[in-house]
Amino acid sequence: VHLLDDAPYESIRESNEAVPLAVAVLGPPVAPSKIVCVGRNYDAHLNEMGYAGGGGPSLFMKPSTALIGPGEDVVLPPERLTAQVEHEAELGVVIGTRARSVPPEDVMAHVLGFTCVNDVSARDVQRADAYPTRAKGFDTFCPVGPWVETDVHLLEGARISCRVNGETRQNGLVSDMIYKVPELIAYITDVMTLLPGDLVLTGSPGGAGPLAAGDQVEIGVSGVGVLRHGVVVPAVERLAHRDAP
Ligand code: MG
Repeated sequence: VHLLDDAPYESIRESNEAVPLAVAVLGPPVAPSKIVCVGRNYDAHLNEMGYAGGGGPSLFMKPSTALIGPGEDVVLPPERLTAQVEHEAELGVVIGTRARSVPPEDVMAHVLGFTCVNDVSARDVQRADAYPTRAKGFDTFCPVGPWVETDVHLLEGARISCRVNGETRQNGLVSDMIYKVPELIAYITDVMTLLPGDLVLTGSPGGAGPLAAGDQVEIGVSGVGVLRHGVVVPAVERLAHRDAP
């Protein structure tokens, strides 16, 4: 892999410096001013969550501080905050150029490419709160990677999957999205300007399920790649510090 001279969102400038992929430490391949998420975008996930459909895309946001890269660990919050953390395999859309009120037919000109994302969710918190900000916003709750696939045609017929410790938990078709990428981005940019490096999560297919310490998670989008990450409990010192009176 070649190192880049600059952020690659608007144009890609490779340096002469290269390292073997096997020894490269990859960070999250995005630098978002915001992470915009779409909920309730696959019928199977609507059904398992007991949601009614209709009414247009359902938007929420995750903070940029939730980002981690490939090979990093999701840190489970202390039990006093949540006892039910779940995975949601999602296709991530990385924005290449500034997009404001873009019609669906022009959306792909503003898209740099696609990546894999785990929309990690504290489900008990989500069900208890009126808004998903706490449930979706914990530090490390947005693993992204392993890279951005810029050949967007590879997405045709793509499957999105989640494997935990080698067991397939989610396996859906990207084409089963209720609202497709062009419609979603158009809808979002009618509200807010998307900037280079912003990340849009497009919703989870069915099969969202629990994560536990020690799990090894693989989020895959065929044609894009596989994002691997671990799951850990917080360091004892950190717990002790937080729980101190
Ligand atoms: Mg989601």
